[in-house]
This record gives sequence, C-alpha cells and structure tokens, in this order.
Amino acid sequence: MIIPLLKGLALTLNRFFSKPITIQYPEQKIPPAKRWRGIQYFEKDERGKTKCVACGLCMIVCPSQCIYIETAEDEEGRRYPLTYELDATRCIFCGFCEEACPVKAIFMGKTYEWVEGQRKPFLMTTEKLLEEKKVNP
Ligand code: SF4
Ligand code: SF4
Repeated sequence: MIIPLLKGLALTLNRFFSKPITIQYPEQKIPPAKRWRGIQYFEKDERGKTKCVACGLCMIVCPSQCIYIETAEDEEGRRYPLTYELDATRCIFCGFCEEACPVKAIFMGKTYEWVEGQRKPFLMTTEKLLEEKKVNP
C-alpha cells in the first residue's frame, strides 16, 4: 500500500527538480518547427517586385478558393498580378499554393500569431505579402 505512494512521491520530486519543458508564453517564444506552415509571403525579383507572374495556378489548386487574381502585363510584356488577394480567414494552410507555384513566388511563412478585431486586415494583398517577407528572411 505504501510502496505505490512512495513511487508517486518520488516521481513528483524528480519532476520538481528537473529542467522545465514549458515556456512563459508570450514573454518567451521559441521558433516554430521547420515544417510549420504559417501565413504566406511573396519572394521578390531582382527589381524588388513580386516574382509572381499571375499564372493563376495557386488560385486553381487552392481547396478553400481563397485566392483571387487579376492579371496584367507591364510595358516589357511581363505578366504580373494587377490584383492578388488571399483571404487568410479562409486559408487552411495546406501549402498547395506554394507547391503549385512554377516560379517560386509564394511561400508558406513562419508567422503563427495574428489577432485582429475585424476580418478586413486578414485580406492579404501583393503589398502585404511582400511585407511579410521581412519576417521570413
Ligand atoms: S495554403 Fe492552401 S488553403 Fe491556403 S491559400 Fe494556399 S492553397 Fe489555399
Ligand atoms: S503565386 Fe505563383 S502560382 Fe500563384 S499566380 Fe503567382 S506565379 Fe502563379
């Protein structure tokens, strides 16, 4: 009868003096795992603009249908997204958009904290996706 009790106490004492595995979030933070898929970001080309050529593949493969693209061409004949909108409130972070992109323009980022009181800020545009690159060096 006393043995199981002593074993339990010994286990408790052991844990009491061992290094804690918990952290004091949000004061303390650790980087997410390598395979983590957070909010997307756009890669830049040599001109500092998005590498996206508005091919629409990410829009087609997206199971949530949360990407909307309007295509245009610049004076050099390069295609670019006149409008690129990704509704992060509907995204399920599957990563298909990243996998489908033929020019490696869109990537799943590391951001995992994002709180807003309204839905509108969660609409990712080209500018916001380029801005997100800063936290994904
Ligand atoms: S991660 Fe998946 S759901 Fe989110 S935008 Fe990309 S393809 Fe769509
Ligand atoms: S992000 Fe990639 S897949 Fe999506 S439209 Fe741009 S180039 Fe195409």
